[in-house]
Amino acid sequence: MAIYNHLKGIPELPDLPHIKKKRPKEMAVVDEDNCTGCLACVPFCPVDCIESVPKEKYDIPIPPVQVRFNECIGCKVCARVCTKMTWDAIRMINIDTFEELYNITID
Ligand code: SF4
Ligand code: SF4
Repeated sequence: MAIYNHLKGIPELPDLPHIKKKRPKEMAVVDEDNCTGCLACVPFCPVDCIESVPKEKYDIPIPPVQVRFNECIGCKVCARVCTKMTWDAIRMINIDTFEELYNITID
């Protein structure tokens, strides 16, 4: 039973990807130094916006993942999955703070 309690808050895998409808309140940011590249978070993302970092950036067998920022809806599922099922490599950042830090404008 303990394992099921631990996984509370992790939804079932989405059937079909949704599409973003409005500006999110938060943004998922992967800490590349902590990400093992296990890909556990990828199928849980309801808008399918998590992908492996391209080989051109790091020429290593298992690269970390990255979020396509303009598609993320800020649902926090990936952060929960990573924390509860694998590591703890995704931080949710307030959208205004994120834009300031990364100098990116999110629609
Ligand atoms: S679940 Fe966590 S460690 Fe695994 S790929 Fe996703 S962010 Fe990286
Ligand atoms: S917060 Fe939600 S939409 Fe954004 S990357 Fe994570 S799972 Fe995908």
